[in-house]
Amino acid sequence: MKKLIVDMDDVLCEKGFIRMINEFLGTNYEQEDAGSYYINDLIPKDRLEDWVKWYYTKNAYDYVDIVKDAQEVMEKLNKVYDVYIATAYVFRDEPKVSGKTLNDKYNFLSEKFPFINPHKFIFISNKELLDADIRIDDSPKKLMGKASLKLLFTAYHNKNMTEEELKENNFIRVNNWKEVEKILL
Ligand SMILES: [Mg+2]
Repeated sequence: MKKLIVDMDDVLCEKGFIRMINEFLGTNYEQEDAGSYYINDLIPKDRLEDWVKWYYTKNAYDYVDIVKDAQEVMEKLNKVYDVYIATAYVFRDEPKVSGKTLNDKYNFLSEKFPFINPHKFIFISNKELLDADIRIDDSPKKLMGKASLKLLFTAYHNKNMTEEELKENNFIRVNNWKEVEKILL
């Protein structure tokens, strides 16, 4: 079986962070307002300490949506590929709270993707360390590791990547899970 490594945030689930930030700040930001991969940059510097404290009392995965068709297609892929979920968990604004994020991620994955053996959840910062035949990620940086097929999952922060840039990096853009299904199944 080919080894398929799938990212979690903004691939399997989405919109958690922006909802948390809006609840914390009392704002109505959209993900696109962040202007970068790090939505947390919307938090003003002088609120950062309060934000971290507040974040620690919440489960970020209570705020997410599961990306449309992700469960159904993942279940099918899991029968044909050796599927792993690889996700970063170190909280950039305050690494000390990362253990809680890891716990929340584990619980979410085991509840919503019960057909994936938990031994195949990988909590890691540098995904280049992993060998894979196929990778699916919304972060161009995290697709840089070795793989013969790299699918860039469209997200607010990678929409502007040009056809040329995709080609240079050997990325194929996928806009949703049905497109993933078409390519891989
Ligand atoms: Mg991601």
